[in-house]
Amino acid sequence: MINFEYIRAASAKGAIDARTKNAASQFIAGGTNLVDLMKKGVTTPQRLIDINGLPLNTITHDAKGLTIGALVPNSAAADHELVKTKFPLLSMALNAGASAQLRNMATVGGNIMQRTRCSYFYDTTMPCNKRQPGSGCGAKDGYNRMHAIFGASDKCIAVHPSDMCVALAALNATVLVSGSKGDKKIPFADFHRLPGSTPELDNNLQPGELITGVHLPANNFNKYYYLKIRDRLSYAFALVSVAVALEVKDGVIKSAAMAMGGVAHKPWRLKEAEERLVSLAANKETIGQPLESIATAAMQGANTYAHNGYKVKLGKAAIREAVTRALFS
Ligand SMILES: Cc1cc2nc3c(=O)[nH]c(=O)nc-3n(C[C@H](O)[C@H](O)[C@H](O)COP(=O)(O)OP(=O)(O)OC[C@H]3O[C@@H](n4cnc5c(N)ncnc54)[C@H](O)[C@@H]3O)c2cc1C
Repeated sequence: MINFEYIRAASAKGAIDARTKNAASQFIAGGTNLVDLMKKGVTTPQRLIDINGLPLNTITHDAKGLTIGALVPNSAAADHELVKTKFPLLSMALNAGASAQLRNMATVGGNIMQRTRCSYFYDTTMPCNKRQPGSGCGAKDGYNRMHAIFGASDKCIAVHPSDMCVALAALNATVLVSGSKGDKKIPFADFHRLPGSTPELDNNLQPGELITGVHLPANNFNKYYYLKIRDRLSYAFALVSVAVALEVKDGVIKSAAMAMGGVAHKPWRLKEAEERLVSLAANKETIGQPLESIATAAMQGANTYAHNGYKVKLGKAAIREAVTRALFS
């Protein structure tokens, strides 16, 4: 690891000013991603701005929804009574991530900002347009078993690794941001980017901006499931995941929200599938056929590489299974 300076921010303004003045600085929260990247030389900030002293660790609820501070640890968010009762999908997704120790350190803001786990991004001897723009993409013709099947570009086929973010995308969350120009709210769907020709940019946060929290709007969903398919049951990133939230009334699906993880550079919202679920009877005997057709359609347009073709079949099965579990388990 190279030498770096370390400062503790006493206020959000102080953190934002320090970050804005020094482009080679980075915020540090739980450090579970950033420190790994520094140790491997993937990122080499001159200065770390520790934001752990900022008052961004509360969870509040009102008629409009739930607000979770950026510094709330993933474990505290998952176990919070308001999250468990009002947004159980988020609890499920958080608990599917990493390990208990990591969830104790990892923060909500850091989870949103975590970088891809593409092995070519982590390996500084390999080309990677995300790490070093213009150097090429080692994954495209390399070992791409974990990589994207939707929304990739010829510059980058990495996926966003977060579980929490898949649930936040399905639940129409908003990212709360402060910067030198004031506060703003970014709809979750617009926060992360597809790689296009600028894969070095993971998201639309501007330099110096600080995530202060996320807001989840109140909803009528009463059935949920987060299904994560991975190589082992703990401490592994999703090969494919599906977050489903359904509103079922009088035996009929009235509204639906769904997103996938492990398939794209950002959580992949399944809008068409959501629309097609509405009005279906929540009936075990009759839903199989329409669900099969919805899951098949959702995977259309997938673009696979040498080692990740399995994700199409797996994704289809995961959609079917996640909806079935949400409805009947
Ligand atoms: C072994 C291992 C397994 C894991 N498995 C999973 C998994 O299965 N699923 C999953 O979802 N995640 C997994 N993770 C990732 C983990 O969830 C993230 O490392 C964690 O959420 C990052 O949060 P942090 O607070 O530690 O962020 P940090 O490491 O402190 O920061 C990460 C990035 O976010 C920026 N940042 C932090 N807070 C803010 C803020 N408030 N505003 C703006 N920028 C900010 C930092 O500058 C940095 O660039 C795993 C990690 C490890 C090490």
